[in-house]
Amino acid sequence: METPRKIANPRFDETLCSHCGLCMGNAWPEEESLRSCVFNTGWLGKHEERLFGRQRNPQDDDELAFGISLRRFNARIKQPVDGAQWGGIITRIALRALETGLVDGVATLHGTMLQPKAALATTPGEVLEGRGNKPVLSPTLMALHSAWRAGLKKLLVIGAPCHVHAVRDFHASSPILREMELLVVGIPCTDNLESSHLRWVLAHISRSPDTITSMEFMQDYRVHIKHAGKKTEKVPFFSLPPDVQRPGVFSASCMSCFDYVNGLSDITVGYFGAPFSRDWKLQWLIVRTETGERLFNLVMDEIDTYPEEKRGDASTSVKASLESTILPVLHPESLETRKRLPRAAGELLCLVAALKGPRGIEFARYSIHIHALRNYCFIRKHLPEKLDTLVPEYVHGLAERYGIDRLFNNEKT
Ligand SMILES: Cc1cc2nc3c(=O)[nH]c(=O)nc-3n(C[C@H](O)[C@H](O)[C@H](O)COP(=O)(O)OP(=O)(O)OC[C@H]3O[C@@H](n4cnc5c(N)ncnc54)[C@H](O)[C@@H]3O)c2cc1C
Ligand code: SF4
Ligand code: SF4
Repeated sequence: METPRKIANPRFDETLCSHCGLCMGNAWPEEESLRSCVFNTGWLGKHEERLFGRQRNPQDDDELAFGISLRRFNARIKQPVDGAQWGGIITRIALRALETGLVDGVATLHGTMLQPKAALATTPGEVLEGRGNKPVLSPTLMALHSAWRAGLKKLLVIGAPCHVHAVRDFHASSPILREMELLVVGIPCTDNLESSHLRWVLAHISRSPDTITSMEFMQDYRVHIKHAGKKTEKVPFFSLPPDVQRPGVFSASCMSCFDYVNGLSDITVGYFGAPFSRDWKLQWLIVRTETGERLFNLVMDEIDTYPEEKRGDASTSVKASLESTILPVLHPESLETRKRLPRAAGELLCLVAALKGPRGIEFARYSIHIHALRNYCFIRKHLPEKLDTLVPEYVHGLAERYGIDRLFNNEKT
């Protein structure tokens, strides 16, 4: 892989766009789609009310972090899908939904890890081809245009939160999809980026960027990087190059994102609320709606389920890492002098964090809170005119709880 050039800082006058694909197809006019773009409508709030009849309860700490749901649990698939990102629960749900006639197509992604392409899968082979992560901005919703042109009546959409917001809004507010039943499997998502930026990051963190097949930010505080035919490489979060935290590396849209766990999906399938599993097979599921139950029931017999676990206290870890997370957002120039922590020291911190840090749903809560607060600061500093439109109520509450004003007041002195 050619070493990509240094990434320029983002231009804050550019329109926020996560390349979700809704306005990138040509089955209907672009303006119709743009009305439903999450960067125009905002996160959660009225969308949550429309789907559940209410917004999340700020007094319920679990609902505040994980969204409205019927139930949450850990899950291990008995026969993992070869080539899937984790056990392949998403792929199995999609395959069963197609085979049983619950849907007649699936909006997913084909292509490679660095070059995903939207795909409307209407055969089991095409669904299977969508397995595995494409950890870059991905235009899944272009497949909605194909589904509408093909006259599909029942569509399963597999998407990140920005896809799910846009498709839910479009389905509810535009007459175009009125005849189509929509079922939604969501993935958690944060810190996504353009593929040229991912190449830059991989070139800076991996010993062998050309052989990478997948990667994941794990609950043992390391980035696990899988290579074709080689051992998995593990890099402590604490030893990542400081430059990775510079605004502009992750897309500005992803720094303006406030729905890490896909609160509008019918069912969210992730991993980070489950304890660390060395084999990447223990997943974390959030069933949000009756449709989500129907989707889960399709694969129920293929899966062992376990109650959630928790240990520790997310808020202690949030407080401990708040300033070092926020500083690069408020003062990117501070990274120029920040040294990369040596590997041995990073490993030691991983050990301490694994022994004493939050585990299970407390780990997920920590990650959700710290990302929401960082993104809140990003908007408040760089795009203050978007604070009211984009930031959901619960994040304003979090900012108050963690005393974020203090960081901005320090700026003035
Ligand atoms: C950028 C990114 C960040 C993530 N961060 C977290 C996290 O912090 N915590 C967590 O628990 N989970 C996260 N996930 C989700 C997690 O990695 C797995 O995708 C999820 O657990 C499903 O595993 P699986 O084996 O069931 O999926 P598979 O059966 O392999 O199916 C994966 C499905 O996801 C779709 N998909 C892949 N990439 C994308 C994309 N970029 N946008 C939309 N759809 C996509 C594929 O088309 C496929 O249908 C993230 C995923 C992405 C892409
Ligand atoms: S986020 Fe989606 S709908 Fe919004 S501008 Fe980008 S591609 Fe279009
Ligand atoms: S972090 Fe948010 S905006 Fe970025 S790709 Fe994921 S869901 Fe979309």
